[in-house]
Amino acid sequence: MICPDCEGKGQIISYACPGFRRIVSPCRLCNGVGTMTPEALAAVASGEAFRAYRVAQSLSQRQMAAAHNLSPQVLSKIEAGLLPLTESMRRELSQQRVAAAALEALAKDLQKE
Ligand SMILES: [Zn+2]
Repeated sequence: MICPDCEGKGQIISYACPGFRRIVSPCRLCNGVGTMTPEALAAVASGEAFRAYRVAQSLSQRQMAAAHNLSPQVLSKIEAGLLPLTESMRRELSQQRVAAAALEALAKDLQKE
């Protein structure tokens, strides 16, 4: 699977001040390989899911990081898929999914009546 961040190039080109210096750095998402392992793709998907969950809770990264004993910097990397979810984050997300599924089932039941 081609890395979505660097589109398979394995590097990210950015420009910095002063004078728009061109900076080539290895892609952080795929570690400069250009392709994604299934594990790396799963980390991106779960990071995105966790970010969506946090935003739905109207929590800032700082607030959510504190709730999981993480620094905001680490939470940011997790949400970007650069690090895997911690165990407590995994637990919170799966509980939230169970609750969402239960609510959905309840709503369907109510529609039948
Ligand atoms: Zn990449």
